[in-house]
Amino acid sequence: MRLNVAIDGPVGAGKSSVADAVAARLGILHLDTGAMYRALGLTALRRGMDLQDEAAIVALCRGLEISVTHEKDGQHTFVEKEDVTGLIRTPEVSMAASTVSRYAQVRQAMVALQQRLAAETDMLLDGRDICTTVLPHATAKIYLTASPEVRARRRFLEMQAKGSDETYEQVLAEVIRRDEQDMNRAVEPLRRAEDAVLVDSSGMSFEEVVETLLRIVEERRHA
Ligand code: C5P
Repeated sequence: MRLNVAIDGPVGAGKSSVADAVAARLGILHLDTGAMYRALGLTALRRGMDLQDEAAIVALCRGLEISVTHEKDGQHTFVEKEDVTGLIRTPEVSMAASTVSRYAQVRQAMVALQQRLAAETDMLLDGRDICTTVLPHATAKIYLTASPEVRARRRFLEMQAKGSDETYEQVLAEVIRRDEQDMNRAVEPLRRAEDAVLVDSSGMSFEEVVETLLRIVEERRHA
């Protein structure tokens, strides 16, 4: 049977790095779905588009070829064959991704693409609507979270390591603003699916989170 693992959660819950480690331990691919919304957000910014113009963003999304590959160093994300992996991690692109992901027709296109990929092979997907919409019948469903302060601290350290000069306060404000936008949008807002297992990683080490998730997957696999 197809092994599909679904992980949702807010900004900075550590989803991406935890998901990478869990997928590697399970020997399956990890699809970072946020990267697809980021690729669209980046393209809209580059073209100087008004992100509030839903019709224009939907038209852009429909005509755009977004694809991913999985390499030794992880997922690479492409827009029209251009590798944008290194360009989609800025705060501007984060907010742009959150804004364009509010539009129903954008979400439909992204969800359809993600479902196609997940049907092809065993895969772990992380995002905001994986448990609720993309893979409601996944083998294991997890909602990974942590307090806003812990999430902002982690993100701040990550950004600092990349040479960013953003302050902790700026990062915390951005985390709270993006959560608010993601949780309050009309279409598929971020929420915990009723049958997703809640994991609060606030007081846990990275390794503890990975082990906890692996335990959940193994339990579900054999349930
Ligand atoms: O996970 P990441 O921070 O890279 O996602 C960027 C943005 O894309 C999120 O803030 C969210 O608005 C959107 N997103 C989404 N659904 C997903 C993944 C990401 O709406 N499955």
